Amino acid sequence: MITLHRARWLFDAPTLERLRYIEKGGIVIEKGRILGRGSFNELRRKFPKARTIDHGENSVITPGFVDCHIHAPQMEMMGAAGFSLLEWLENHTFPTEQKYVKAAYAKARWKEFCQNLLRCGTTYAAIYSTSHTKATDLLLEACREAGLRAHVGKALMDQNAPQALLQDADSALIELEELINKWADETKVRPSITVRFAPTSTPELLRGAGKLHEKYPDLIIQTHLGETTDEIAWVKELFPHSQNYATVYAENGLVNHRSLLAHCIYLNEEETRLLHDQRSHLIHCPSSNFFLGSGLFPYQKMRHAALSIAMGSDVGAGWDLSMQTTARCCYEAQALQKYFCKPAELLHLITRAGAVAMGGSRSLGLLEEGFKADFVVHDLSEREVVRLRAERSDSPEDLLSALLFLGGETTVVETHVDGRRCYKKNR
Ligand SMILES: [Zn+2]
Repeated sequence: MITLHRARWLFDAPTLERLRYIEKGGIVIEKGRILGRGSFNELRRKFPKARTIDHGENSVITPGFVDCHIHAPQMEMMGAAGFSLLEWLENHTFPTEQKYVKAAYAKARWKEFCQNLLRCGTTYAAIYSTSHTKATDLLLEACREAGLRAHVGKALMDQNAPQALLQDADSALIELEELINKWADETKVRPSITVRFAPTSTPELLRGAGKLHEKYPDLIIQTHLGETTDEIAWVKELFPHSQNYATVYAENGLVNHRSLLAHCIYLNEEETRLLHDQRSHLIHCPSSNFFLGSGLFPYQKMRHAALSIAMGSDVGAGWDLSMQTTARCCYEAQALQKYFCKPAELLHLITRAGAVAMGGSRSLGLLEEGFKADFVVHDLSEREVVRLRAERSDSPEDLLSALLFLGGETTVVETHVDGRRCYKKNR
């Protein structure tokens, strides 16, 4: 069946500088792919047999949001205040993650997690599970059930965390490989190779993870890098023979074009060059950086150095699942450094940039012919102030800006992945 979705506005951002919009536009979808985009009237003529779904006069369609860094077990502890990174891990994160040893508990939480991602318009995510293999398998299952597109990582840890979350390198990697094989035929939901971060990894674990990536090179690698100065000092103590933090990963084959490296606030020149040369992706997580007081990501500097940058909510240190909140925090983090992002740039960062970082450059992140039909329907009238602000906007760009800043979970009314409606708001 061919479906034509009509919206008052269509927005997408192919590059950081370029915003595309269509007023009274539409997208035509067949078998999960976009067949056409353009003005509604033209599409109506071109596809006379298409079933039309009119989203109304206050509707806006954007590509689905892409979250390149989020911890599923931490949704239940978002906003747990009072600590900086290392204390927060010890006091909140590790005790919470231990609960996921119970499969029934994990299953119930994962379902809530996936539903809430969709409620915020997220269609594609790189997700950390806990260190438990069973819980990770269940999270893959929950993502598939919900219809999300996802990379899901068993958080590998074999030192410097509570015993209940540790697993020796050998058995952790064997179990991860079993999981990789179990999910080998899936393309939409895939396991990833996820080292929590250097301090919770022995050299054996890092080496083994790198070897596993050599064997399965199309899998995503996820880890944290250069988030706080205390963490960097600790890494120096633990790995005295490595030249710097990034090298700890690079020496073990974990820095390449499949690597999503969260934070990267404190990189020196050598590390910056290394990530550039290896075409790795820096995942900027500003709401988390504000919450933990970690620091300000040097976006402009990294952009000028031609590094690939995408965005992550980093829930639970990030205090909202919505990528719109993440975009707002990005704006603020950069404004504090005297750089003012444009609406196109923010939209690009939470859609197309993330899709490209995760390997979807030819099929994801835009409302484009031939692309997968991952999109969000927003309704400006779902929040009074958004509707009023949109009515008085003086350009399409300004209207998008109002939606990005004042809207969010409240204004998302439908989320579609692969052309399938996975979420519809009760109104
Ligand atoms: Zn994180």
